[in-house]
Amino acid sequence: MPADYHTHTPLCRHAEGEPEAFVDAALKAGLSEYGVSDHAPQLPEPFDDWRMLDAEMPEYFQWLERARRHANGRIPVRAGLECDWLPGCTAWIENLAGRHQWDYLIGSVHYLESTDIGAWDFDNPKWLDRWDGMDLEEIWHGYWREYAAMAESGLFDVLGHPDLVKKFGHLPDGDLDRFYEPVIDAVAASGCVIELNTAGWYKPCAECYPAPRFLELACSAGIPLVISSDSHEPAHLGRDFPQAVAMAKAAGYQETVLFEQRRRKTESLG
Ligand code: ZN
Ligand code: ZN
Ligand code: FE
Ligand code: FE
Repeated sequence: MPADYHTHTPLCRHAEGEPEAFVDAALKAGLSEYGVSDHAPQLPEPFDDWRMLDAEMPEYFQWLERARRHANGRIPVRAGLECDWLPGCTAWIENLAGRHQWDYLIGSVHYLESTDIGAWDFDNPKWLDRWDGMDLEEIWHGYWREYAAMAESGLFDVLGHPDLVKKFGHLPDGDLDRFYEPVIDAVAASGCVIELNTAGWYKPCAECYPAPRFLELACSAGIPLVISSDSHEPAHLGRDFPQAVAMAKAAGYQETVLFEQRRRKTESLG
């Protein structure tokens, strides 16, 4: 099975499991590598209630150390972060990038600007009722504009869950290619890797991120791919990877990417 690079730890306050249990689960799932990418700190604190605090970064490194000790050479344990793309975040991401010998950084759009409520984490179930009466066309345009800007920033190795904006099943009418095409051009030009994130299959949208059509367009545009579970517990590591591999191949992919100290290699999908 491919590497699983998008995974969380209890430091983000909504995940569970000891490092040893994650490593055991990675071995059991037959993953080629296990990467940890917890929700990165964000200033001003507390920014929200679903990430580690800046002062907890040393604990994160200890957590990684414990995972590596337990893996003991049986599987590579990679160090990453899932960073939030926010207006004006560049200096902060560069700061985080300098804290450690990261193997990769994931960029994710979880926040959108709204004229009446300011920045809101649209994928948080806490705000589900806010979607009522919202203009989906406008939200989708705003989401993909930020996603393209995140790619163009050049700050990240991997771009997380491409169409997360569909999480609760809020889709605009008509052919979605009008949203996909400009962002695919931007991502292809940036050289960033996207992920096929299997967690979407367990959300109200009941579809992996991104949609199969997006994946097809991404492959045609030459955008490289990783497959990830976005696991918040050991049992979800590598979840649905056989289906994801089949979907990636159906979209035209023959390989996925491996990272070490922010350098890439490829691994055949077999
Ligand atoms: Zn999370
Ligand atoms: Zn995310
Ligand atoms: Fe995540
Ligand atoms: Fe996440």
